[in-house]
Amino acid sequence: MNHLGHMIVGLIIGIIAMLVLNIFSLALIGVILLGSLLPDVDLKQSKVSRIIEPIAILAITIILQKIASEFLSTITSWIISLLLAFVIVWLVLKPLRKKHRGITHSFKAAVVYAIAMVLLAGIPTGIVGLLSYSSHLVVDRL
Ligand SMILES: [Zn+2]
Repeated sequence: MNHLGHMIVGLIIGIIAMLVLNIFSLALIGVILLGSLLPDVDLKQSKVSRIIEPIAILAITIILQKIASEFLSTITSWIISLLLAFVIVWLVLKPLRKKHRGITHSFKAAVVYAIAMVLLAGIPTGIVGLLSYSSHLVVDRL
């Protein structure tokens, strides 16, 4: 199924979960959409990869630059931080991209996503995250 189908199924499952849990927020919609697409981060040309990679590189660059600016000039700290961000993102994504529908398409990965959402925003968000991520796994098997 393509990314739009995954998003629609994820939204249906996620909205049902929100109704059952009696919670709603726009941030949860973001958790649902991300969860419904994230398993395909193992494909370099997937929609989620094309969105997540630049955001991850930007976020890591900003964090590293804050640290590096303590020791280096502004321009040097930006350049080194950007290079390191590319390397970090590459190191994280390379093992995930060994095989399509590998580790990112497993229930373990759904649990990791749910735990991350619990740590960021609480148990209800983790439940919604688990369901939306799992919806992708189920739809891919149809
Ligand atoms: Zn998939």
